[in-house]
Amino acid sequence: MMQQEKITNLPVTEIFSSIQGEGPYVGVRQIFLRLPMCNLTCPYCDTETREPEKLRLETVPGSRIFKEIENPVSLTQLLGLLQTYDFSMHHSLSITGGEPLLWAKELGALLRHIDKKKLRIYLETNGTLPNQLLEVLPMIDIISMDIKLPFAGRSFWNEHESFLKLSQQKDVFVKIVVDEDTPLKDLEKSRDLIAKVNPMVQTILQPVTKTRGISTPNPRQLLEWQSLFLKKLNNVRVIPQTHVFMGQL
Ligand code: SF4
Repeated sequence: MMQQEKITNLPVTEIFSSIQGEGPYVGVRQIFLRLPMCNLTCPYCDTETREPEKLRLETVPGSRIFKEIENPVSLTQLLGLLQTYDFSMHHSLSITGGEPLLWAKELGALLRHIDKKKLRIYLETNGTLPNQLLEVLPMIDIISMDIKLPFAGRSFWNEHESFLKLSQQKDVFVKIVVDEDTPLKDLEKSRDLIAKVNPMVQTILQPVTKTRGISTPNPRQLLEWQSLFLKKLNNVRVIPQTHVFMGQL
């Protein structure tokens, strides 16, 4: 029986099995656990982050047949739902959002009960909540951390630097979404931030998927920006969102 202490419930958006579409682990099969809510409102966001009344659970992994379960679910129930999936055919459990670290306490309580020898834990995060990261860090194997470039008068440089420093003890990579209007000075600042923490950190420039008047960078921009990053970092790749091409969730 799970030790629930004061933490008993967690709202969940959806659970399904799919192909990772972003970053260096592109193509691996994962169980996705999507949690609601976000502390940011990125202009290109394509995710529904509101807290849903019902959790969508894919009944057979990869079938795209879903059933609905009343939210929030108890952590014991959630663990049971995840265990209906065959861990051996999945590379890892991708915890995504929204911003999953808004639920760091609940996640910590849940992840303590997942056998990491059977299923690695892959955290997808916007990289702005370093204190919350500390609550789950021992249970995480892989961190996909965004650097969010400034928008709407907000910037996150200090949070990102602290977050990246803490993440060094894990398999971490940084993802930066770029569009045709991305300012060069923000790219330079991101590059310098990563180089200051560790120039070996794998860095992914992800051309935005065209949305709401935000356009993908042109081929020349991508080449120039990769060169700019390679001046100070060792491992810089340009990888678009491939799940969009593949028609995956
Ligand atoms: S951090 Fe992610 S989920 Fe949150 S607003 Fe930005 S893109 Fe959307």
